[in-house]
Amino acid sequence: MTVELTPYELRLASPMVTSYRSIESRHGVLVSIDDAGSVGWGDACPMEGWSRSSIDDVVHHLAAAAKHVDPDGAGDALDMLEGVPEARAALAGAFHDLSARRARVPLASLLAPTAIDRVRVNASIGAAATDRAVRDAVQAVSAGFTALKLKVGAASPDDDVTRVGAIRHAVGDDVEIRLDANGAWDVDTAIAVLDRLADTNVAFCEEPTAGIDAIATVGSRSVVPVAVDESARTIDDIIQALGTGSIQVVVVKPQALGGPDLAMQAVDLVHAAQATVVVTSMIDSAIGVAHAVHVAAAVGTEVAHGLATSPLLVGDVARALPIVDGHVLVPTQPGLGVSPV
Ligand SMILES: [Mg+2]
Repeated sequence: MTVELTPYELRLASPMVTSYRSIESRHGVLVSIDDAGSVGWGDACPMEGWSRSSIDDVVHHLAAAAKHVDPDGAGDALDMLEGVPEARAALAGAFHDLSARRARVPLASLLAPTAIDRVRVNASIGAAATDRAVRDAVQAVSAGFTALKLKVGAASPDDDVTRVGAIRHAVGDDVEIRLDANGAWDVDTAIAVLDRLADTNVAFCEEPTAGIDAIATVGSRSVVPVAVDESARTIDDIIQALGTGSIQVVVVKPQALGGPDLAMQAVDLVHAAQATVVVTSMIDSAIGVAHAVHVAAAVGTEVAHGLATSPLLVGDVARALPIVDGHVLVPTQPGLGVSPV
């Protein structure tokens, strides 16, 4: 069994502006495990300003762990990557791809026998001027998307309220609108802004403020449901968030949690608490996105997931999964179904 690391850099078609920074390109590393000609693929793509590990840390840890992969499987390599979730996600992902190939089933079916074959996804509308955001939103809806995610918190509350209202007016009542503030507001501002948006029928707001307890406070006092994303990075964090009883949606990023096995643990916890799972990619390569797609298919619900990120990149390491009518089609061949060309 041989492990190989292949670093990559992918440019975004236009910079992604969030409330904390602007991102122009993505640096990641592909992990491949070759077992007698059968190859499993994984992707590590930490997000600058979001992840706690840099790409250099991730490569360094993966190179060390790769030496501990033994002929029977991961050995203690995965344990060595505890605390570097993106690196663990890549190695665990490659092993899962390999296992599904051997079992001759799509990865999603290995994760859950009830996996679905197409996954509804949201279009992302980056924080931008109102007219541009409205144009992007209308274009996404005519392309078949039924859910839109808008970044908020980078502009003033007045501008955010105006932009969200204008988009609701432009796309009509049947399209789901969800927000992501990336923790930009304090508790009082979050409650005030969400209150002003009560008429626009916002489905939920991710990270209206920073920290699980503060988000739960907003959730308990706001008409708009709230979601945790970067404030809940581990299984323990997710347990804590669900325990508040005021957080209705949990964003599950297989890349940030440490791989498909840990993501499915999170999914089970969230469903047991009768909360909603939204699976998202991190503008990672087509390999990383495909891993998140299989987890979303294993979730098995009609909830829209945040997986339509490949079109944001100028090029990619492999052919990205097609998006048709606002859904990603889940590969039906054994394993991940995506590998570098
Ligand atoms: Mg988010």
